[in-house]
Amino acid sequence: MVEGRRLKPVTNVVSTKKELIEALPLTGSVGLVMTMGALHAGHRQLVDAARKENETVVVSIYVNPLQFAPGEDFDTYPRNLAQDLELLGDVDIVFAPTDEEMYPREPLVRVNPGEVATRFEGKTRPTHFAGVLQVVAKVLNLVRPDRAYFGQKDAQQLALVRTMVADLDMRTNIVAVPIVREESGLALSSRNAYLSTEERNLALALVGSLRAAREAAAAGASPEETEKVLSEALEAAEGVAVDYATIVNPDTFQRVSSNAKQGLGIVAARVGPTRLIDNMEVTFG
Ligand code: AMP
Repeated sequence: MVEGRRLKPVTNVVSTKKELIEALPLTGSVGLVMTMGALHAGHRQLVDAARKENETVVVSIYVNPLQFAPGEDFDTYPRNLAQDLELLGDVDIVFAPTDEEMYPREPLVRVNPGEVATRFEGKTRPTHFAGVLQVVAKVLNLVRPDRAYFGQKDAQQLALVRTMVADLDMRTNIVAVPIVREESGLALSSRNAYLSTEERNLALALVGSLRAAREAAAAGASPEETEKVLSEALEAAEGVAVDYATIVNPDTFQRVSSNAKQGLGIVAARVGPTRLIDNMEVTFG
């Protein structure tokens, strides 16, 4: 070995809880990034943030069956561990368990995500957030990280994870990472892989409507007027079936009050068979 040369770091890939616990360091800070694989530059941003702030970086790659309802894309969700490991680069531990390892039996004790989980994403996907919080709680308990990194892309998920950690006194700091977008503005998502070239263009209506709302708010529109701009822009778009388009308080996911200074524009829509979500902060000027 040449003295002083930095070798390519070796990632410890483990698939059992026992191996994971044994691989964790006894000292030093640990940062966790939870993913379902099909990794892209959005996930990479979470890993980079974790790398900057922690001595050890743990990434989980697991397509959690509990957060998919029957008829959703659990079976077809893209899975390619070898490719994901290439993209990850400099991380210390990758935890990629099987379903049997994560759920040796139907869990009897379940995390109840509460009322916020019934709105917006939860309205269309009623069992989704209970499944998300179940697996997030399990992996937080296994890894016990100092910090866990979640993307602003899934804003309602982020709010619910923060609420769970607060309400259950979990000792991990939740760090939000801004949305990574393509040059076109499209928010990166593993589900973009389902889009045809034409659908990718149609999908730009999501970010377009959010930008229109942000501009309207900055130019003095009230929260109500801003919401109208947002929903009308998305409704007017061709080839896009709107699920919701609204302005909420980013912590509570309640409608923003009419004298709010800030809000979060949130949209969900189907482009062809693919359901996409996006969001953007708006400041009322
Ligand atoms: P997923 O693999 O889709 O479950 O996402 C794993 C994590 O990556 C979640 O915390 C997501 O919010 C985050 N994430 C996904 N896409 C993006 C993006 N475009 N920008 C930032 N974070 C993202």
